[in-house]
Amino acid sequence: MADYKLPLPTKQPESDFYWEKAQAHELWLRKCNTCGDAYFYPRDICPKCYSNDVSWIQASGKGTLHAYSIVERGPIPPFRDAVPYVAALIDLDEGPRMPTNLVGVEFDDEHIKIGMAVEVTFDEVTDEVTLPKFKPAS
Ligand SMILES: [Zn+2]
Repeated sequence: MADYKLPLPTKQPESDFYWEKAQAHELWLRKCNTCGDAYFYPRDICPKCYSNDVSWIQASGKGTLHAYSIVERGPIPPFRDAVPYVAALIDLDEGPRMPTNLVGVEFDDEHIKIGMAVEVTFDEVTDEVTLPKFKPAS
């Protein structure tokens, strides 16, 4: 844990709640009270209708794989040491598309399929930061 070298989120008021809930192994999203859309990443203004009447909802943690890339060569030093890993876009059941990592699966096209059902899992990368990642649904 202590030797985690990849970039970590910066604390900021708009997303502190999100990271606190991730530490508790819960996935939370922002939802607009004006247009009804849930969205990611967390921010105080709805990206669709620009309303600031927004609230938090707990996500199911379920979704489907929209796209992925098996990264074999990292672009810069900390990522070079992390390969292989899977960069993925997940369509959450609540609507938002979330960039993340796919884990808990063989990293090949036999085991990773576009549209496969996935569910959130939590990676405690430091004592202060837990990252939501996704694995094949059980
Ligand atoms: Zn809205």
